[in-house]
Amino acid sequence: TGKFFVGGNWKCNGTKDSISKLVADLNSATLENDVDVVVAPPFIYIDQVKRSLVDRIEISAQNSWIGKGGAFTGEISAEQLIDIGCKWVIHGHSERRHIIGEDDQFIGKKAAYALSQNLKVIACIGEKLDEREAGKTFDVCFQQLKGFADNVSSWTNIVIAYEPVWAIGTGKVATPEQAQEVHAAVRDWLKKNVSAEVASETRIIYGGSVNGSNCADLAKKEDIDGFLVGGASLKGPEFAVIVNSAT
Ligand code: 13P
Repeated sequence: TGKFFVGGNWKCNGTKDSISKLVADLNSATLENDVDVVVAPPFIYIDQVKRSLVDRIEISAQNSWIGKGGAFTGEISAEQLIDIGCKWVIHGHSERRHIIGEDDQFIGKKAAYALSQNLKVIACIGEKLDEREAGKTFDVCFQQLKGFADNVSSWTNIVIAYEPVWAIGTGKVATPEQAQEVHAAVRDWLKKNVSAEVASETRIIYGGSVNGSNCADLAKKEDIDGFLVGGASLKGPEFAVIVNSAT
């Protein structure tokens, strides 16, 4: 479905020096043409990355405020992100859901506001280990999807990232079959609850311990349209291998 999409979520990592090296590695990497490539640096390094990174790679923020800027100490608005050249923002990441405590409706509203300001959104969903073991994987993912669906009016500028929490940063990647099963269910949910067109056109990417060695087998699956990469996105050459795993 659509163009293969690979995002690098740098999370709360990096220094001016390490990021300048990572950008140099990305600038010299050979990236296949037919792939959307996006990196998400911490807010404070976005401007540095924007000034030094090749235009072929777009920039995402890792969060944005729920509405227009103003008296909201510590927040960054969608308007400000557009102002510094950001094209994307991540919402619904499990670290914000489960460590920071953001809920489905709050996340959906932040996504909707970001879209209204012309940011594109990487909308993350995914179950925890106990939820998978209790057979609740689909229920949890559908509930999180509903949080987005209740608030956004168009899916054109949304990429869905399925990131099972048990696979994030653990080295325990989902098998291609496990990921495919959820991706197909997400597509089916979109068909029933949004539209057949949105179901067939929305890219659904996988995240959770993706690396240069496991990406190719995952990329072969019908409903896996790309990746959201954490740890391995901090290594330029390995990230390039993942970008080039598009089939
Ligand atoms: P890892 O690739 O480090 O498991 O992180 C995945 C992730 O959370 C991307 O958003």
